[in-house]
Amino acid sequence: MKLNFANERVLAVLAHPDDAELLCAGALARARADGAAIGLAVLCNGAGGQPHKPIRNLVAVRRREVAAAARLLAADLFCLNIPDGTLADDHPTRLRLTEVLRRFRPSLVLAHAPADYHPDHRAAGALAEAASWFCASRGQRTKTTPLAAAPALWWMDTVNMSGFAPEFYVDISKFLALKERMLACHRSQVARGQDSSFAPLAELMRLQARARGAQAGVAAAEAFGAHHAFKRERAW
Ligand SMILES: [Zn+2]
Repeated sequence: MKLNFANERVLAVLAHPDDAELLCAGALARARADGAAIGLAVLCNGAGGQPHKPIRNLVAVRRREVAAAARLLAADLFCLNIPDGTLADDHPTRLRLTEVLRRFRPSLVLAHAPADYHPDHRAAGALAEAASWFCASRGQRTKTTPLAAAPALWWMDTVNMSGFAPEFYVDISKFLALKERMLACHRSQVARGQDSSFAPLAELMRLQARARGAQAGVAAAEAFGAHHAFKRERAW
């Protein structure tokens, strides 16, 4: 049995410009190959990702990097441009993300898991959960009209798999090369691999894809869980 993403509209809600590459780019690439429309909503501007040798105009550099990665997926890109480390699940940010969802009209939203290590990731996950509910609510007004129904919500794996119990796996064996090419677009962050306090990204990503793949008996996989809550359950 294989999930087929044809006719779906998949939106990944990410804290930072390079988070998709670590956690869901393989599933997005597979969905794209099935014929799905793909969107990336990147909430933070990446200003905190300064390598050892500082880059001037880092925010602009990171915007170009994420745009290049999004092009490899032919994905619509929405950037909220919030400074790293300040992201919070507050009402103004909920409304901004709700408007993104109403414009993209996802049938499936991918979000950071509640137990992820980074406070921005956890805030992004909470915002995605709220916006994926309120986007179908007339009570929350934004420029664009509400959706007819709330999209499905999947939690993504955590960085380095800490504290995340997978419910299902997406086989990304055929898409690992594309995931690597997307990650290579984030040159400013790949360069941070030389910093002693920062795990080399490409190695971290490959290890995780192979480890999740080994758990599921394939060459490479990404792990997900579904959002279990009243009115939010879906059948696959
Ligand atoms: Zn991140």
